[in-house]
Amino acid sequence: MTHATRVTAPRGGSTTETRILVMVGAPGAGKGTQSQRLAARLGLPSVSTGDLFRAALRDDSPLGRSVRPYIERGSLVPDEITVQVIADRLTQPDAAAGIILDGFPRTRAQAAALDELCAERRMSVLAALYIDVELEELVARLGGRQVCGAPESHSFHPRGNPPRVAGRCDVDGTALHEREDDKPATVRARLREQLAPMYEVVDHYNGTGALCTIAGDQPIDEVTRELVRAVERRSARA
Ligand SMILES: [Zn+2]
Repeated sequence: MTHATRVTAPRGGSTTETRILVMVGAPGAGKGTQSQRLAARLGLPSVSTGDLFRAALRDDSPLGRSVRPYIERGSLVPDEITVQVIADRLTQPDAAAGIILDGFPRTRAQAAALDELCAERRMSVLAALYIDVELEELVARLGGRQVCGAPESHSFHPRGNPPRVAGRCDVDGTALHEREDDKPATVRARLREQLAPMYEVVDHYNGTGALCTIAGDQPIDEVTRELVRAVERRSARA
């Protein structure tokens, strides 16, 4: 099939070739990093809702003006408006081949709203890429930060950035301690709350058949390779 026929003749009722990819993952799962890497490999833009809202604010379009009051108040932008912003972003030339959504949908309602938007455009979410990392691994990644007592609070982490002498600041030699926010119990409790809506999103895409689960406890390059493979498999099937 030539490129021209593909563009002019999407099969009746089926999806077009626009690859809509959704990244799903807990804080600390490496979703942002992998989203950037996938964007580079696939030649698709990776967009977070934060980026989209900032762009909408710069843009004095009706859509930009509808987002502005929420951003300025610091309140949540309603799902219908967020979905409109994404729909608008999909019309940009660089998104003609597809888009990687990093950080949306965050809830089941948002996932359903995105499906509806796609259906209106005879598209569908090609793959929801879930980077699966166990809770205790996330706790280890996100917690455990140690800071010293200096006003600058030099910070260390047992993984990746340990102090030269355990429990002592490399810079000023003062004792290191964990802040309440970084203690495992606090991190675990916070994560449990944050993960509940994410699991609903995972469940949603499991139901639609778009879910691709990638083990997130592997080396970062291997996670990227598996993500690319998952997208290629889904594209071949579409
Ligand atoms: Zn220090």
